[in-house]
Amino acid sequence: MKARCLIAIALTLSLSSPIRAEQFACSRSKIALQLLGSGGPISDDARASSGAIVWIDGKARLLIDAGGGTFLRYGESGARLEDLDFIGISHFHTDHVTDLPAILKGAFFVSTKHSVTLVGPTGNSNFPSMTQFFDRTFGSANGGGGSFQYLSGLRNASDGLQLEVHPNDVDVTSPTQTLVYKGDGVTIYAFGIPHGDVPCLAYRIETPEGVLVLSADQNGSRKEFVDFARGADILMMPAAIDDDADEQSRFLHAPPTTIGQIAATANPKMLVLDHFMGRSIIDKDKNIEVIKQSYHGPVYAGRDLSCFPLGNVPGDKK
Ligand SMILES: [Zn+2]
Repeated sequence: MKARCLIAIALTLSLSSPIRAEQFACSRSKIALQLLGSGGPISDDARASSGAIVWIDGKARLLIDAGGGTFLRYGESGARLEDLDFIGISHFHTDHVTDLPAILKGAFFVSTKHSVTLVGPTGNSNFPSMTQFFDRTFGSANGGGGSFQYLSGLRNASDGLQLEVHPNDVDVTSPTQTLVYKGDGVTIYAFGIPHGDVPCLAYRIETPEGVLVLSADQNGSRKEFVDFARGADILMMPAAIDDDADEQSRFLHAPPTTIGQIAATANPKMLVLDHFMGRSIIDKDKNIEVIKQSYHGPVYAGRDLSCFPLGNVPGDKK
């Protein structure tokens, strides 16, 4: 029943006005996943880069990734910083994180102080850790000399900023999932996924209404990911490349055949695709057919602001 409701709502929304209808459905849902950006790092496709919010009881409490363009979509979605409890950053490619400072700058205009948990991966020789990124971006003159040191008050909700942001690193090499947030009925785990040589995390969000697993970029070679994703109501995966992509692209991203195999094994109630770019937009329908050869549940190609409620929208008749 729950899966049928998910399908019905997603189909209805695809026929409706893209912003108003989806904002309405998401903000009235008990739990809902809403994409902010459905694109990748290319700017010519009218899609924002990666990012998503999770609505819980009418509040957008969780933000996962904040690539370019998500600042605008965040406002269009109706999300409010007053409601934000958790930010998970998957990795430090520009299309997953560049709008984070722009979104957090809004903390100047929030009416009441509250704290936000900020989680990201450990670093390596080419990429910072979450805490290093935070210091290099928001560190004060005495504490890292960050690029936006005028926002250093984010660390302790000072200088007129109303958010107290607590950055944390999660070891991407850990063989098991890491508990990163627990509060008000929501439990979130992070797990390292293989994205070439880029430290990268997937997130599993468990709620009384169901489970969301959001995979960022990965090549699909870490077998334990299917255990991390197993039992999800919604699994979101990036559809970045085609099956005939070159070796370098496959080092970074999973082709449709691999996505289909992962989904077939993890067996979510539905699969949502994001991170469309270049050929993966042109060949979208063909790639979905490839995925469906292995995975037989519903597959949705996400658009910016697409809304996927869990369970029933209040007022929706069973
Ligand atoms: Zn990436």
